[in-house]
Amino acid sequence: MTQERIFLSPPHMSGNEMNYIKEAFDSNWIAPLGTNVDKFEEELCEYVGIDHGLALSSGTAGIHLALKYFNVGPGDYVFCSDLTFAGSCNPILYQYAQPVFIDSEPETWNMSPIALEKAFEWAKKENKMPKAVIIVDLYGQSADYDELLPICERYGVPVIEDAAEALGATYKGKKCGTFGHIGIFSFNGNKIITTSGGGMVVSNDAEAIKKMRFWATQSREAAKHYEHKEVGYNYRISNISAGIGRGQLQALDGFIDNRKFIFDQYVDGFNELPLRFMPISDLGSPNYWLSVLTINEGVDVTPEYIVNQLEMKNIESRPLWKPMHLQPLFIDTPIFNHYETKSVGSYLFQYGICLPSGSSMTQDQQRLVINTFSEVFESDKR
Ligand SMILES: *Cc1c(COP(=O)(O)O)cnc(C)c1O
Repeated sequence: MTQERIFLSPPHMSGNEMNYIKEAFDSNWIAPLGTNVDKFEEELCEYVGIDHGLALSSGTAGIHLALKYFNVGPGDYVFCSDLTFAGSCNPILYQYAQPVFIDSEPETWNMSPIALEKAFEWAKKENKMPKAVIIVDLYGQSADYDELLPICERYGVPVIEDAAEALGATYKGKKCGTFGHIGIFSFNGNKIITTSGGGMVVSNDAEAIKKMRFWATQSREAAKHYEHKEVGYNYRISNISAGIGRGQLQALDGFIDNRKFIFDQYVDGFNELPLRFMPISDLGSPNYWLSVLTINEGVDVTPEYIVNQLEMKNIESRPLWKPMHLQPLFIDTPIFNHYETKSVGSYLFQYGICLPSGSSMTQDQQRLVINTFSEVFESDKR
């Protein structure tokens, strides 16, 4: 008999979520919006250290609103990290704009300052200056903002920080989500905290948040009869979901500790194997959302093989994000690489695996993952 499935990153309820949901039920404030939404915004802003937040139905919605705020429209260019989830860059297409992908650096797997500089030089020469740069904090680790932000500043282009995976992570003592002009978080089911689905945009720019709030509520003008001058979206979160978020937020620091513990156990458990974990930069502390590693070149085991072998034991694992420039959707999109020719993102995708990393994973479960993984590796039969 196979054991209960071990998921990559399943929801982990702390217990407190139910109190906030109950409050909403007791006051019949199921919708619209409500206290939980307002409080969730306040509490998250307080946690990350930023002035204003806008809770939404998804992180993708947040990126869309941020692009709109920077006036991204048909034919405009937007730079975006190449190694990421499609949610980072789909909104560029919603605005009929043109993405340009920027490769990873080997140090953090996040956007390479070298590649970014190349892209800007190209943009300047070709008269294709982007309206915004979307920088992703991958797998819960901050990008190197002291390298990236001055480049964007020099060219006068605003930054959207996609911290969907990095809530609670820090860079030089400051929390992720606060480095761009606008930051976004996701509370999708597999993120470090979840509202079953949701997101938030944050900023110190009150006007920006106000404008995005307006668009996110169908651009309703101040009138009883529903007056509209601009296109709008139905992008707000529900009072119930926000209640889940409030309970989750209180548990977040504990979740980070759990995930760090899991990461450390993997590092210990695999120290004899020919593989490397995602490098942890000493410039910050990740939230350890996922434990991710690459198999060394020349080893006769592919990520796909390992994923399938783990699957036979009812263990979920995944390859890394497939870089955007390799996606059929973005086949003709410009890409700027860290090295002269080869792409760091493609390399990581070819050799990388994400391991089960949920904050509720038990010691026994992790031991099973470590043993199964090690056996697959050592038998090396394919
Ligand atoms: C999850 C994720 C998103 C999208 O968030 P949703 O809430 O699922 O819309 C965007 N970017 C990154 C890097 C993500 O991991």
